[in-house]
Amino acid sequence: MDSPIVQTPFNTYSSPSQLKITDIRIADIVGAPMRCPLIKISTNQGIEGYGEVRDGADPIYALMLKRLLIGENPCEVDRLFRRIKQFGYHARQGGGVCGIEIALMDLAGKAYGIPAYQLLGGKFRDRIRMYCDTDVNGKDTGTSMGLALKKRAEQGYTFLKMDLGINQIRHISGALSAPIGFLEEGANLGKKLAEARKSGDPEAIRYYTNRNYDYQNIPHPQTGIHITEVGFEALEEYVRQVREVIGYEMPLAIDHFGHIGLEDCIKLAHRVEKYNLAWLEDMVPWQYTEQLVRLSRASTTPIATGEDIYLKEGFMTLIDAGAVSVIHPDLLTDGGMLESKKIADYASEHGVGVAMHMAESPIACMAAAHTCAAFEHFIALEFHSNDVPWWQDMVQYKHGTIVDHGWIQIPDAPGLGIDGLNDEVLLEHLNPAAPGLWLSTEEWNKWSSHDRLWS
Ligand SMILES: [Mg+2]
Repeated sequence: MDSPIVQTPFNTYSSPSQLKITDIRIADIVGAPMRCPLIKISTNQGIEGYGEVRDGADPIYALMLKRLLIGENPCEVDRLFRRIKQFGYHARQGGGVCGIEIALMDLAGKAYGIPAYQLLGGKFRDRIRMYCDTDVNGKDTGTSMGLALKKRAEQGYTFLKMDLGINQIRHISGALSAPIGFLEEGANLGKKLAEARKSGDPEAIRYYTNRNYDYQNIPHPQTGIHITEVGFEALEEYVRQVREVIGYEMPLAIDHFGHIGLEDCIKLAHRVEKYNLAWLEDMVPWQYTEQLVRLSRASTTPIATGEDIYLKEGFMTLIDAGAVSVIHPDLLTDGGMLESKKIADYASEHGVGVAMHMAESPIACMAAAHTCAAFEHFIALEFHSNDVPWWQDMVQYKHGTIVDHGWIQIPDAPGLGIDGLNDEVLLEHLNPAAPGLWLSTEEWNKWSSHDRLWS
């Protein structure tokens, strides 16, 4: 007997098993508010996949992978991810590999006609709670920060974050102690770099960019910076004022403490514990597992880290050690959508909360939203671009406002749910240092290297 003919509702876009990657190109966007290098993967069937390199990173991290992807079937997401995985690393260096992974997920979803969250096993929720980051620019007092946060709440946000750290108390006499001249050296380097950029002198720019880089990369325990009682009083008063304005019911996380050592972090955690904070983020570098364990044991406020960790293994180390109460991975550093799902599952199994860092364009945002929809447990996803009016205009999106009153409704459209990109908007915000928009990347097709990790 003949088999009955089955009408499949999917695959109106493409023949998935015949799909092949034909090109990968870049739009290097700035001011969103970060630098966001967007990735477009073209195929032999006319469908396009969208990805993005981690905020602030260079598109070269994605382009160097092109030779390994041309001619391959993008639906074989995990197979291709494992091929390129060795070229990812922590922080911004995860950005090429992860940016490609989300573009592959977008293509696989489009090819089969299903939303990307379905590729992760389906969704646990229809909408994603966004938390709104608020930096300190122009907010010299806790009251002014509180008023800025209150505005966020009035816009519909149900979870907030602010910065608090040594930058806010530098101007207060006697608030910081450091090896004499060290703080002034940093301020002077910043000033010299600004002057060099203004003058356009390439040698001065090169010199002060590198000196600044070296200075900014002195890890927390090596700076010798300490907060005095005057400084702790000022920081505590700042948080007290914030709570006075926004009340105690709104969840409020804190980030960007500055490069201070563990003992000062513990003292600060004690100072602010009565202000009912959601988490303290990246107080010490994530690599120092033992220090995070000490901090977590000393603090009654949840300790969080994770936006600079590549792959599940780094999270396992921290979770197994009891170093964190909340993990905070970035999809464009942690290995992408599939890896994020594994990380979130591991955290949930060990009683650790899951939130996500995100400071990128609507492409990474929608990839993160689909991913968070597929987590069993989830607190909130970060949003940095609330004050960038053209942020959503970068993409063609038929499902309303992406971040709508502090929430993202997950669309059922194929892939990430983004229909196209608006090149006129992208051109307006193109990195001035970029040669153009979606230019040929032919030169990256063929360069070769023997990359095997063993002999
Ligand atoms: Mg952060």
